[in-house]
Amino acid sequence: MSGLSCPESQQVSPIDEPLYATLMAPRLQLWQERASAAVGERRVSYAVARAKAIARPYHRKLARCTTRGLRVKCGCRGWRGIRAYTCRQHLLCESCQRQRGKRLGARIRAGLEAAMGEAPAGSKVVLLTLTIRHTGDVEADRRELAAGWRRFYKSMWSRFGKFPYVGVWEVTPGRDELGHVHAHVAAIWPYRDWSVCAALWREACPTSERISFVASRRDRRPSDPKSVANYLGKYLSKGIQGVDFSPALRSRVVAGTYNTRWVFTSRRFWQYFQPCCKACGQPVIAAQYRFRGEPYRPDDATGARGDPQASLELSNPNQRAGGRCAR
Ligand SMILES: [Zn+2]
Ligand SMILES: [Zn+2]
Repeated sequence: MSGLSCPESQQVSPIDEPLYATLMAPRLQLWQERASAAVGERRVSYAVARAKAIARPYHRKLARCTTRGLRVKCGCRGWRGIRAYTCRQHLLCESCQRQRGKRLGARIRAGLEAAMGEAPAGSKVVLLTLTIRHTGDVEADRRELAAGWRRFYKSMWSRFGKFPYVGVWEVTPGRDELGHVHAHVAAIWPYRDWSVCAALWREACPTSERISFVASRRDRRPSDPKSVANYLGKYLSKGIQGVDFSPALRSRVVAGTYNTRWVFTSRRFWQYFQPCCKACGQPVIAAQYRFRGEPYRPDDATGARGDPQASLELSNPNQRAGGRCAR
């Protein structure tokens, strides 16, 4: 795809590429130094690949999304389809955003349901919105808010004991277009005096501007795992491609949140998750690599579509699935 590096496609980059390169320069240098200092072929090639990925223009990462993939299989006959290699740039790639919002929303719901099942009677899902005084440095603000949350959790823990939580980050442009960092956290609490919690929060995070607590949905019924997972999932699929984000702000958000988690949870929040075929109940796997060309034959595969197939034709493994491609 040599056409991707032509000047034309550089114009459509959603971010300010030179600014992005400047912001990423320290990381690039770090990985270049690691590459030259590394011992052992695997470490060297890993560091070289990291440096190369950081140096690649951002729009080319987006352009590579879902252009290649793996053929996957379940227990049903024949190939199930293609699992595309995605760009994982959920801030600016719409197809990655949608998929991620859906997948993480379902996983957050499962985690909250499990946590509610174990919580003491009368527990509620409380949504906390945390806001920090912004400095114009998205990376530093996020780090400060995360440290504030850790201090708050510790002081809540020493006062009331542990509680399960899941939180997501949100960046809004703000009126000054400098980028404002917020965190939305769902905590499972029995009755708590919110004024005490707010006081603990102010102590834990003095630069915070605001904390808010909500335990009911818009229709005034109490929040439940489903409504909260939907709410948090919306933030995860929001992205920063809107017109209210300038290309320069997008560059600062992308570079400032490089290699950071957008979802944070209490320990053991996530539940085991294995996507399975609804027809045969078998996991969906990338058969041709996992089984080195041998046909995949699950022992207990049953389904309306008959017995597992004994052999498979391997054609072009990078072929795109008809109609499934995002672009
Ligand atoms: Zn199946
Ligand atoms: Zn993508």
